[in-house]
Amino acid sequence: MPIYDYNCQACGHPFEALVRAQTTPVCPECGSAALEKRVSSIAPAGKIEAIRMAHRRVAAAQGHFDHYSPSDKAKLLQGKKNI
Ligand SMILES: [Zn+2]
Repeated sequence: MPIYDYNCQACGHPFEALVRAQTTPVCPECGSAALEKRVSSIAPAGKIEAIRMAHRRVAAAQGHFDHYSPSDKAKLLQGKKNI
């Protein structure tokens, strides 16, 4: 089940929602269905993002980068070169 990030167009509340086909998420703050879908990704913001970053730090400390997306990996390697 994909997780999507939304911004509520009615109240501006950002949230993430698991979205099944044929269902429409609504804003948990105001119940509005006028939502702006943000980048659909496997990396939702907030708490899960923090957990993911923690895993990444552990992985990086251990010297492997399997948790990184190709673009992040490129950035990381580029950063290392610059150091
Ligand atoms: Zn709202």
